[in-house]
Amino acid sequence: MKKKKKSDSQVILISIDGLWPGLYSSSSLGGSLHDQGANQDLARLARAGTQAQAAEAVFPTLTYTNHASIATGAPSDRHGIFANTRFDPSRVEAWRGFESQDWILESKYIRTQTIWDAATEAGIPTAVIRWPSTVGAKARWCLPDIFPILSQESVWSLIKRTSTPDLISKLTRDPDFEPPQDDHRQLDQLTRKAALALLRADEKPQLLMVHFTSLDHEAHEKGRNSPMIPVIAREIYLHVQAILSAVDLSRTSVFVCGDHGFAEFDHRVNINSLLFDRGWLEVEDGKVIDWQAIAHTNCSVAPIYAKDPSRAEEIIADLRSQEGEFYRVLDRAELKSLRAFPDAICAVETTLRASLGQKVSGPLIEKLPEPRGEHGWSALLPEMLTGFFAIGAGIRKAHRIDRIQLIDLAPTIAKIFGFELPQAEGRVLEEIFESANPIAEATF
Ligand SMILES: [Zn+2]
Repeated sequence: MKKKKKSDSQVILISIDGLWPGLYSSSSLGGSLHDQGANQDLARLARAGTQAQAAEAVFPTLTYTNHASIATGAPSDRHGIFANTRFDPSRVEAWRGFESQDWILESKYIRTQTIWDAATEAGIPTAVIRWPSTVGAKARWCLPDIFPILSQESVWSLIKRTSTPDLISKLTRDPDFEPPQDDHRQLDQLTRKAALALLRADEKPQLLMVHFTSLDHEAHEKGRNSPMIPVIAREIYLHVQAILSAVDLSRTSVFVCGDHGFAEFDHRVNINSLLFDRGWLEVEDGKVIDWQAIAHTNCSVAPIYAKDPSRAEEIIADLRSQEGEFYRVLDRAELKSLRAFPDAICAVETTLRASLGQKVSGPLIEKLPEPRGEHGWSALLPEMLTGFFAIGAGIRKAHRIDRIQLIDLAPTIAKIFGFELPQAEGRVLEEIFESANPIAEATF
Protein backbone atom coordinates (compact mmCIF):
# COMPACT_ATOMS: atom_id res chain seq x y z
CA MET A 1 0.00 0.00 0.00
CA LYS A 2 1.30 3.42 -0.89
CA LYS A 3 2.08 5.43 2.17
CA LYS A 4 1.40 9.13 2.27
CA LYS A 5 4.41 11.23 3.13
CA LYS A 6 3.60 13.56 5.95
CA SER A 7 2.74 16.98 4.58
CA ASP A 8 5.00 19.83 5.60
CA SER A 9 2.53 22.48 4.39
CA GLN A 10 1.29 25.11 6.81
CA VAL A 11 -2.19 26.61 6.49
CA ILE A 12 -3.65 29.50 8.44
CA LEU A 13 -7.40 30.06 8.21
CA ILE A 14 -8.53 33.43 9.53
CA SER A 15 -12.23 34.11 9.97
CA ILE A 16 -13.21 37.77 10.31
CA ASP A 17 -16.73 37.50 11.67
CA GLY A 18 -19.20 39.49 9.55
CA LEU A 19 -16.64 40.42 6.85
CA TRP A 20 -18.51 41.84 3.87
CA PRO A 21 -16.69 42.13 0.54
CA GLY A 22 -16.91 45.94 0.46
CA LEU A 23 -14.53 46.07 3.43
CA TYR A 24 -11.62 45.08 1.24
CA SER A 25 -12.84 45.35 -2.35
CA SER A 26 -14.81 48.21 -3.88
CA SER A 27 -15.44 46.35 -7.13
CA SER A 28 -16.73 43.07 -5.74
CA LEU A 29 -20.41 42.27 -5.51
CA GLY A 30 -21.77 43.64 -2.26
CA GLY A 31 -18.93 46.14 -2.18
CA SER A 32 -20.92 48.80 -3.94
CA LEU A 33 -23.52 48.81 -1.18
CA HIS A 34 -21.60 50.36 1.67
CA ASP A 35 -17.92 51.08 1.45
CA GLN A 36 -17.47 53.53 4.30
CA GLY A 37 -15.65 50.89 6.31
CA ALA A 38 -13.33 49.86 3.50
CA ASN A 39 -9.83 49.27 4.70
CA GLN A 40 -7.14 50.00 2.15
CA ASP A 41 -4.59 47.76 3.87
CA LEU A 42 -6.94 44.77 3.79
CA ALA A 43 -7.65 45.66 0.15
CA ARG A 44 -3.91 45.66 -0.66
CA LEU A 45 -3.49 42.32 1.03
CA ALA A 46 -6.43 40.82 -0.88
CA ARG A 47 -5.14 42.21 -4.19
CA ALA A 48 -1.70 40.70 -3.62
CA GLY A 49 -3.12 37.18 -3.56
CA THR A 50 -6.29 35.65 -4.96
CA GLN A 51 -9.57 37.31 -4.06
CA ALA A 52 -13.08 36.08 -4.70
CA GLN A 53 -15.80 38.40 -5.94
CA ALA A 54 -17.70 37.20 -2.86
CA ALA A 55 -18.21 34.10 -0.76
CA GLU A 56 -21.62 32.55 -0.28
CA ALA A 57 -22.46 31.40 3.22
CA VAL A 58 -24.96 28.64 4.01
CA PHE A 59 -28.50 29.31 5.22
CA PRO A 60 -29.17 30.44 7.89
CA THR A 61 -26.37 33.02 7.68
CA LEU A 62 -25.56 32.64 11.37
CA THR A 63 -22.11 32.57 12.96
CA TYR A 64 -22.11 29.09 14.49
CA THR A 65 -23.80 27.49 11.51
CA ASN A 66 -21.33 28.96 9.07
CA HIS A 67 -18.22 28.31 11.14
CA ALA A 68 -19.27 24.67 11.24
CA SER A 69 -19.75 24.79 7.44
CA ILE A 70 -16.32 26.35 6.95
CA ALA A 71 -14.81 23.65 9.18
CA THR A 72 -16.65 20.68 7.65
CA GLY A 73 -17.50 21.66 4.07
CA ALA A 74 -21.14 20.69 4.73
CA PRO A 75 -24.47 22.56 4.92
CA SER A 76 -26.28 22.75 8.24
CA ASP A 77 -28.75 19.89 7.80
CA ARG A 78 -25.68 17.67 7.53
CA HIS A 79 -23.32 19.08 10.18
CA GLY A 80 -26.14 19.65 12.68
CA ILE A 81 -25.33 23.21 13.80
CA PHE A 82 -28.71 24.53 12.70
CA ALA A 83 -28.36 27.87 14.49
CA ASN A 84 -26.21 29.61 17.12
CA THR A 85 -28.20 28.05 19.93
CA ARG A 86 -29.70 24.60 20.31
CA PHE A 87 -33.40 23.87 20.36
CA ASP A 88 -34.00 21.28 23.06
CA PRO A 89 -37.75 20.82 23.72
CA SER A 90 -37.03 19.77 27.30
CA ARG A 91 -35.25 23.04 28.01
CA VAL A 92 -37.77 25.60 26.77
CA GLU A 93 -38.77 26.36 30.37
CA ALA A 94 -35.12 27.40 30.99
CA TRP A 95 -35.15 30.03 28.24
CA ARG A 96 -34.55 33.62 29.25
CA GLY A 97 -36.31 36.37 27.32
CA PHE A 98 -37.96 33.74 25.11
CA GLU A 99 -34.64 32.81 23.63
CA SER A 100 -32.65 29.62 24.01
CA GLN A 101 -29.49 30.17 26.05
CA ASP A 102 -27.98 26.89 24.85
CA TRP A 103 -25.19 28.30 22.70
CA ILE A 104 -23.52 25.50 20.79
CA LEU A 105 -20.13 25.91 22.43
CA GLU A 106 -19.03 22.28 22.32
CA SER A 107 -17.54 20.48 19.32
CA LYS A 108 -19.47 17.29 20.17
CA TYR A 109 -22.57 18.75 18.52
CA ILE A 110 -20.92 18.88 15.07
CA ARG A 111 -22.06 15.68 13.32
CA THR A 112 -19.61 15.63 10.42
CA GLN A 113 -15.85 15.47 10.46
CA THR A 114 -14.11 18.82 10.90
CA ILE A 115 -10.77 19.81 9.38
CA TRP A 116 -9.30 20.01 12.88
CA ASP A 117 -10.38 16.38 13.49
CA ALA A 118 -9.11 15.14 10.15
CA ALA A 119 -5.83 17.07 10.43
CA THR A 120 -5.23 15.84 13.96
CA GLU A 121 -5.92 12.24 12.85
CA ALA A 122 -3.44 12.74 10.01
CA GLY A 123 -0.78 13.75 12.54
CA ILE A 124 -0.89 17.44 11.60
CA PRO A 125 -0.46 19.64 14.70
CA THR A 126 -3.57 21.81 14.75
CA ALA A 127 -4.64 24.87 16.74
CA VAL A 128 -8.12 26.40 16.96
CA ILE A 129 -8.32 29.86 18.51
CA ARG A 130 -11.74 31.26 19.48
CA TRP A 131 -13.37 29.22 16.70
CA PRO A 132 -17.07 28.60 17.46
CA SER A 133 -18.12 25.17 18.75
CA THR A 134 -14.63 24.06 19.78
CA VAL A 135 -14.96 23.42 23.52
CA GLY A 136 -13.60 19.89 23.83
CA ALA A 137 -12.24 19.84 20.25
CA LYS A 138 -9.56 17.23 19.67
CA ALA A 139 -6.86 19.57 18.41
CA ARG A 140 -3.32 19.85 19.78
CA TRP A 141 -4.14 23.38 20.99
CA CYS A 142 -7.57 24.80 21.62
CA LEU A 143 -8.68 28.14 23.03
CA PRO A 144 -12.43 28.07 22.35
CA ASP A 145 -15.02 30.74 21.67
CA ILE A 146 -16.73 30.80 25.05
CA PHE A 147 -18.40 33.55 27.06
CA PRO A 148 -20.56 33.89 30.15
CA ILE A 149 -24.20 33.16 29.35
CA LEU A 150 -26.14 32.72 32.55
CA SER A 151 -23.19 32.36 34.93
CA GLN A 152 -21.24 35.02 36.80
CA GLU A 153 -17.93 33.46 35.79
CA SER A 154 -15.59 35.84 33.95
CA VAL A 155 -14.79 35.29 30.29
CA TRP A 156 -11.12 34.77 31.10
CA SER A 157 -11.90 32.17 33.76
CA LEU A 158 -14.09 30.29 31.27
CA ILE A 159 -11.40 30.46 28.59
CA LYS A 160 -8.68 29.30 30.99
CA ARG A 161 -10.51 26.22 32.13
CA THR A 162 -11.56 25.12 28.63
CA SER A 163 -8.26 25.78 26.81
CA THR A 164 -5.17 23.63 26.33
CA PRO A 165 -3.08 24.30 29.48
CA ASP A 166 0.25 24.79 27.68
CA LEU A 167 -1.31 27.45 25.45
CA ILE A 168 -2.61 29.36 28.48
CA SER A 169 0.82 29.15 30.13
CA LYS A 170 2.47 30.44 26.95
CA LEU A 171 0.17 33.48 27.14
CA THR A 172 0.41 34.18 30.86
CA ARG A 173 4.20 33.75 30.91
CA ASP A 174 4.47 37.16 29.22
CA PRO A 175 4.92 39.71 32.06
CA ASP A 176 2.80 42.23 30.12
CA PHE A 177 -0.13 39.82 29.75
CA GLU A 178 -3.43 41.21 30.97
CA PRO A 179 -6.51 38.98 31.08
CA PRO A 180 -9.18 40.17 28.63
CA GLN A 181 -12.50 41.51 29.83
CA ASP A 182 -15.73 40.51 28.08
CA ASP A 183 -14.97 42.96 25.28
CA HIS A 184 -14.62 41.84 21.66
CA ARG A 185 -11.69 44.12 20.85
CA GLN A 186 -9.79 42.80 23.88
CA LEU A 187 -10.73 39.24 22.97
CA ASP A 188 -9.42 39.80 19.43
CA GLN A 189 -6.12 40.94 21.00
CA LEU A 190 -6.10 37.65 22.89
CA THR A 191 -6.70 35.74 19.64
CA ARG A 192 -3.73 37.51 18.06
CA LYS A 193 -1.50 36.85 21.08
CA ALA A 194 -2.44 33.17 21.16
CA ALA A 195 -1.76 32.79 17.42
CA LEU A 196 1.61 34.54 17.72
CA ALA A 197 2.61 32.56 20.82
CA LEU A 198 2.05 29.33 18.88
CA LEU A 199 3.68 30.49 15.63
CA ARG A 200 6.80 31.60 17.51
CA ALA A 201 7.12 28.45 19.63
CA ASP A 202 9.40 25.51 18.77
CA GLU A 203 6.41 23.22 18.34
CA LYS A 204 4.24 25.06 15.81
CA PRO A 205 0.77 24.35 14.44
CA GLN A 206 0.67 23.31 10.80
CA LEU A 207 -3.03 24.11 10.69
CA LEU A 208 -4.04 27.23 12.60
CA MET A 209 -7.64 28.46 12.66
CA VAL A 210 -8.46 31.82 14.25
CA HIS A 211 -11.66 33.81 14.60
CA PHE A 212 -11.91 37.59 15.14
CA THR A 213 -15.26 38.85 16.49
CA SER A 214 -15.05 42.62 17.07
CA LEU A 215 -16.25 43.65 13.60
CA ASP A 216 -19.42 41.54 13.98
CA HIS A 217 -20.06 42.94 17.44
CA GLU A 218 -19.82 46.57 16.28
CA ALA A 219 -21.90 45.93 13.14
CA HIS A 220 -24.66 44.39 15.29
CA GLU A 221 -24.68 47.27 17.75
CA LYS A 222 -24.50 50.23 15.36
CA GLY A 223 -24.96 48.82 11.86
CA ARG A 224 -22.44 48.38 9.08
CA ASN A 225 -22.17 52.15 8.64
CA SER A 226 -21.03 52.75 12.21
CA PRO A 227 -18.13 55.26 12.34
CA MET A 228 -16.21 52.67 14.38
CA ILE A 229 -16.20 50.11 11.55
CA PRO A 230 -13.12 51.59 9.78
CA VAL A 231 -11.28 51.72 13.13
CA ILE A 232 -12.07 48.08 13.87
CA ALA A 233 -11.33 46.95 10.31
CA ARG A 234 -7.90 48.58 10.68
CA GLU A 235 -7.32 46.83 14.04
CA ILE A 236 -8.21 43.47 12.54
CA TYR A 237 -5.94 44.15 9.58
CA LEU A 238 -3.10 44.74 12.05
CA HIS A 239 -3.88 41.41 13.76
CA VAL A 240 -3.82 39.64 10.38
CA GLN A 241 -0.61 41.42 9.43
CA ALA A 242 1.04 40.39 12.72
CA ILE A 243 0.13 36.76 12.02
CA LEU A 244 1.47 37.01 8.44
CA SER A 245 4.71 38.52 9.74
CA ALA A 246 5.23 35.52 12.01
CA VAL A 247 5.27 32.98 9.17
CA ASP A 248 7.22 32.31 6.01
CA LEU A 249 4.70 32.98 3.22
CA SER A 250 6.71 30.88 0.80
CA ARG A 251 5.73 27.86 2.91
CA THR A 252 2.44 28.99 4.44
CA SER A 253 -0.92 29.43 2.71
CA VAL A 254 -3.20 31.95 4.42
CA PHE A 255 -6.98 31.93 3.86
CA VAL A 256 -9.07 34.87 5.06
CA CYS A 257 -12.85 34.57 5.05
CA GLY A 258 -15.98 35.87 6.73
CA ASP A 259 -19.03 33.91 7.83
CA HIS A 260 -21.89 36.17 6.61
CA GLY A 261 -22.50 39.78 5.58
CA PHE A 262 -24.57 42.42 7.36
CA ALA A 263 -27.74 44.40 6.73
CA GLU A 264 -29.28 47.26 8.69
CA PHE A 265 -32.80 47.04 10.07
CA ASP A 266 -35.04 49.20 12.23
CA HIS A 267 -38.03 47.03 13.16
CA ARG A 268 -38.50 43.96 15.33
CA VAL A 269 -40.98 41.14 14.78
CA ASN A 270 -41.96 39.43 18.03
CA ILE A 271 -43.06 36.21 16.42
CA ASN A 272 -43.63 34.39 19.73
CA SER A 273 -46.07 37.15 20.62
CA LEU A 274 -48.21 36.03 17.66
CA LEU A 275 -47.98 32.39 18.80
CA PHE A 276 -48.93 33.52 22.33
CA ASP A 277 -51.92 35.53 21.03
CA ARG A 278 -53.15 32.50 19.08
CA GLY A 279 -52.87 30.26 22.14
CA TRP A 280 -49.90 28.16 21.07
CA LEU A 281 -47.76 29.38 23.96
CA GLU A 282 -48.56 29.56 27.64
CA VAL A 283 -46.65 32.18 29.60
CA GLU A 284 -46.57 33.07 33.29
CA ASP A 285 -44.44 35.81 34.89
CA GLY A 286 -42.59 36.26 31.63
CA LYS A 287 -41.61 32.59 31.37
CA VAL A 288 -42.86 29.91 29.02
CA ILE A 289 -44.68 27.35 31.14
CA ASP A 290 -46.11 25.30 28.29
CA TRP A 291 -46.03 25.41 24.51
CA GLN A 292 -47.61 23.75 21.51
CA ALA A 293 -45.65 25.81 18.96
CA ILE A 294 -42.62 28.00 19.56
CA ALA A 295 -40.23 30.13 17.54
CA HIS A 296 -36.55 29.43 18.18
CA THR A 297 -35.29 32.90 17.30
CA ASN A 298 -31.73 33.38 16.05
CA CYS A 299 -31.07 36.84 14.62
CA SER A 300 -33.46 37.27 11.65
CA VAL A 301 -34.65 33.67 11.36
CA ALA A 302 -36.61 31.33 13.58
CA PRO A 303 -37.42 27.71 12.93
CA ILE A 304 -40.88 26.95 14.32
CA TYR A 305 -41.21 23.77 16.36
CA ALA A 306 -44.47 22.04 17.20
CA LYS A 307 -45.03 19.56 20.02
CA ASP A 308 -47.62 17.84 17.90
CA PRO A 309 -46.53 18.07 14.23
CA SER A 310 -49.99 16.96 13.09
CA ARG A 311 -51.14 20.52 13.97
CA ALA A 312 -48.52 22.08 11.69
CA GLU A 313 -51.06 23.33 9.16
CA GLU A 314 -53.04 25.27 11.78
CA ILE A 315 -49.86 26.84 13.18
CA ILE A 316 -48.58 27.77 9.73
CA ALA A 317 -51.97 29.32 8.86
CA ASP A 318 -51.73 31.55 11.96
CA LEU A 319 -48.18 32.61 11.04
CA ARG A 320 -49.18 33.29 7.44
CA SER A 321 -52.09 35.50 8.58
CA GLN A 322 -49.65 38.31 9.43
CA GLU A 323 -47.03 37.58 6.75
CA GLY A 324 -46.01 40.35 4.35
CA GLU A 325 -44.13 43.56 4.90
CA PHE A 326 -41.98 42.37 7.81
CA TYR A 327 -41.61 38.62 7.52
CA ARG A 328 -42.38 35.56 5.46
CA VAL A 329 -42.92 31.90 6.25
CA LEU A 330 -40.57 29.32 4.75
CA ASP A 331 -42.39 26.02 4.38
CA ARG A 332 -40.91 22.53 4.71
CA ALA A 333 -40.21 22.24 0.98
CA GLU A 334 -38.26 25.52 1.03
CA LEU A 335 -36.34 24.49 4.14
CA LYS A 336 -35.46 21.20 2.52
CA SER A 337 -34.06 22.94 -0.55
CA LEU A 338 -32.19 25.39 1.69
CA ARG A 339 -30.75 22.40 3.64
CA ALA A 340 -31.80 23.98 6.94
CA PHE A 341 -33.85 23.23 10.08
CA PRO A 342 -34.73 19.59 9.30
CA ASP A 343 -36.89 19.17 12.44
CA ALA A 344 -38.92 22.39 12.18
CA ILE A 345 -42.49 22.52 10.80
CA CYS A 346 -41.57 25.77 9.02
CA ALA A 347 -39.44 28.84 9.67
CA VAL A 348 -40.00 32.57 9.84
CA GLU A 349 -37.54 34.85 8.07
CA THR A 350 -37.92 38.59 8.45
CA THR A 351 -37.69 40.91 5.47
CA LEU A 352 -34.61 43.17 5.44
CA ARG A 353 -36.59 45.89 7.24
CA ALA A 354 -36.75 43.89 10.46
CA SER A 355 -35.14 41.35 12.71
CA LEU A 356 -36.76 39.12 15.30
CA GLY A 357 -37.53 40.22 18.84
CA GLN A 358 -38.06 38.18 21.99
CA LYS A 359 -41.22 39.67 23.48
CA VAL A 360 -44.48 37.80 23.99
CA SER A 361 -46.56 40.70 25.16
CA GLY A 362 -47.20 43.87 23.24
CA PRO A 363 -47.24 44.40 19.51
CA LEU A 364 -46.03 41.92 16.93
CA ILE A 365 -44.08 44.68 15.13
CA GLU A 366 -41.97 47.28 16.94
CA LYS A 367 -40.07 50.21 15.46
CA LEU A 368 -36.56 50.78 16.85
CA PRO A 369 -35.23 54.28 17.60
CA GLU A 370 -31.91 53.60 15.80
CA PRO A 371 -30.93 51.15 13.07
CA ARG A 372 -28.92 48.11 14.06
CA GLY A 373 -27.05 45.46 12.09
CA GLU A 374 -28.12 41.88 11.58
CA HIS A 375 -27.60 38.69 9.58
CA GLY A 376 -29.28 35.32 9.32
CA TRP A 377 -31.18 35.94 6.06
CA SER A 378 -30.89 34.03 2.80
CA ALA A 379 -27.27 33.47 1.79
CA LEU A 380 -28.07 34.72 -1.72
CA LEU A 381 -29.05 38.26 -0.69
CA PRO A 382 -26.24 40.64 -1.74
CA GLU A 383 -26.09 41.96 1.86
CA MET A 384 -25.43 38.46 3.22
CA LEU A 385 -22.50 37.74 0.92
CA THR A 386 -19.22 37.49 2.74
CA GLY A 387 -15.58 37.70 1.72
CA PHE A 388 -12.68 35.44 0.84
CA PHE A 389 -9.08 35.97 -0.17
CA ALA A 390 -5.95 33.87 0.07
CA ILE A 391 -2.26 34.65 0.00
CA GLY A 392 1.02 32.82 0.36
CA ALA A 393 2.43 29.43 -0.62
CA GLY A 394 0.94 28.00 -3.80
CA ILE A 395 -1.66 30.79 -4.13
CA ARG A 396 -1.91 32.78 -7.37
CA LYS A 397 -0.80 36.38 -7.06
CA ALA A 398 -2.87 39.43 -8.12
CA HIS A 399 -5.70 37.16 -9.21
CA ARG A 400 -9.46 37.54 -9.08
CA ILE A 401 -11.92 34.70 -9.12
CA ASP A 402 -15.71 34.43 -9.20
CA ARG A 403 -17.90 33.74 -6.26
CA ILE A 404 -16.97 30.82 -4.00
CA GLN A 405 -18.92 29.02 -1.29
CA LEU A 406 -17.76 28.77 2.30
CA ILE A 407 -18.23 24.99 2.12
CA ASP A 408 -15.37 24.96 -0.43
CA LEU A 409 -12.77 25.95 2.17
CA ALA A 410 -12.52 22.67 4.11
CA PRO A 411 -12.03 20.48 1.00
CA THR A 412 -9.47 22.98 -0.32
CA ILE A 413 -7.47 22.91 2.91
CA ALA A 414 -7.78 19.12 3.05
CA LYS A 415 -6.30 18.93 -0.44
CA ILE A 416 -3.28 21.01 0.56
CA PHE A 417 -2.55 18.57 3.39
CA GLY A 418 -3.47 15.49 1.37
CA PHE A 419 -6.29 14.16 3.54
CA GLU A 420 -9.91 13.54 2.63
CA LEU A 421 -13.16 14.87 4.05
CA PRO A 422 -15.65 12.39 2.59
CA GLN A 423 -18.69 14.17 4.06
CA ALA A 424 -17.78 17.58 2.64
CA GLU A 425 -20.02 18.84 -0.16
CA GLY A 426 -17.91 21.79 -1.29
CA ARG A 427 -15.32 21.62 -4.08
CA VAL A 428 -11.59 22.15 -4.10
CA LEU A 429 -10.88 25.73 -5.21
CA GLU A 430 -8.42 24.72 -7.94
CA GLU A 431 -8.57 28.25 -9.41
CA ILE A 432 -6.70 29.79 -6.46
CA PHE A 433 -3.57 27.67 -6.91
CA GLU A 434 -0.51 28.45 -8.99
CA SER A 435 -0.14 24.85 -10.05
CA ALA A 436 -2.84 22.29 -10.72
CA ASN A 437 -1.66 20.05 -7.93
CA PRO A 438 -0.90 21.94 -4.72
CA ILE A 439 -0.01 18.71 -2.94
CA ALA A 440 2.48 17.47 -5.53
CA GLU A 441 5.26 17.54 -2.97
CA ALA A 442 3.14 16.48 -0.04
CA THR A 443 2.08 13.01 -1.23
CA PHE A 444 3.32 10.30 -3.53
ZN1 LIG B 1 -20.76 35.84 12.52
